[in-house]
Amino acid sequence: MSELVLVRYGEIALKDRWTRSAWERILEANLAHDLREAGVSYRLSRTGGRIFVHTTDERAACVAARVFGVVSVSPAWSVSPDIASISSSAVELARAAPPGSFAIRARRSAGAISSQEIAVEVGSSVQQATGRPVDLSCPKLEIFVEARQDHAFLFQEILPGVGGLPLGSQAPMVALLSGGIDSPVAAWTMMRRGCPVSLLHFDARPYADSLSQARRCAQVLQRWASGRRINFVVVNNSRGIGLIASKNPRATCVLCRRLMYRVATEIMHREGAVGLITGYSLGQVASQTPENIMAEQVGLNAAIYHPLIGMDKTEIVDLARRIGTLEITEETKSCTAVPSKPMTKARLDVVLELEKEMDLIGLARELAEEAEVERI
Ligand code: ATP
Ligand code: MG
Repeated sequence: MSELVLVRYGEIALKDRWTRSAWERILEANLAHDLREAGVSYRLSRTGGRIFVHTTDERAACVAARVFGVVSVSPAWSVSPDIASISSSAVELARAAPPGSFAIRARRSAGAISSQEIAVEVGSSVQQATGRPVDLSCPKLEIFVEARQDHAFLFQEILPGVGGLPLGSQAPMVALLSGGIDSPVAAWTMMRRGCPVSLLHFDARPYADSLSQARRCAQVLQRWASGRRINFVVVNNSRGIGLIASKNPRATCVLCRRLMYRVATEIMHREGAVGLITGYSLGQVASQTPENIMAEQVGLNAAIYHPLIGMDKTEIVDLARRIGTLEITEETKSCTAVPSKPMTKARLDVVLELEKEMDLIGLARELAEEAEVERI
């Protein structure tokens, strides 16, 4: 049973002092929330670019590994930083582990003795005490030693964390959440990069019905949010779709998107957010072409992020599975207002003219007024 979990957070450590300490505090608060929520009793401390979760609860490492900003975690033991103490703990660990070859992997950040010396001396103690052979290239058992000024840490595994930046270290955004596979992955990707999100769903009934899938995705995303409440905003868009589809069927998707972005921009201001997020992946469907993306966004007053733009479907599906939204979204049906031959090379002048003709700007303002906000 380990006595603490070593939490590593690579990228934050590269920041200047002020930013680093601000982000470390956010990360600590997020970790504390998730540990509490999981019912783990713990104490946190931090030195030298690491957070330590002092606990004997075995769940702590897994909880910490899924907090945004955490690069890796190791359940560890802390001993005094002298060769005798390190050796006796390493022997204890080796005795408790299944038989086979071993290697000592040592690192030192302070102290007189070098990492090479630690590896050699501790290694020979383990060998003598247990009779295990040394194998540096493919050992059955690895014992890592990290020697510092006041403590040495011993651990056997390095579990990958979810990575990214601490949630709350970047400005909030509004993610357009459809109920399909991609958009929850996009929202999660930006959360992982530090952005708290509000989720905006356009209820397109009777053309499409994915409100319940979107809401369930929002609930899953909430579980990644380390206690920050997520607003789930619903705007009914059937009026807009009806109008657009009757005027110019081939341009339905491009115009519908412009309408959604305009509504979303209003919601963004209301939510105090700074940017919009979509689940676009280039070329994935006929409408997601560079020409269309250009025509959909020209002249809008918001930064629009498409974090999945360069990803393949299989990569997105793998992420959705890991996030926990895949099952919810797999059965989601597509919108019946999508024409059989959607425009793939939208012309800016035509699109802008149509938008004006239908007064989509006025309509967007009206739809945004009707938005309903739910707390997830
Ligand atoms: P997804 O799987 O995310 O639905 P998709 O590949 O089906 O994406 P589209 O339906 O063209 O592609 O949607 C592209 C993006 O537009 C979505 O990822 C989402 O961000 C946004 N979007 C589409 N429909 C809606 C909706 N009803 N409500 C909110 N956002 C939507
Ligand atoms: Mg979709």
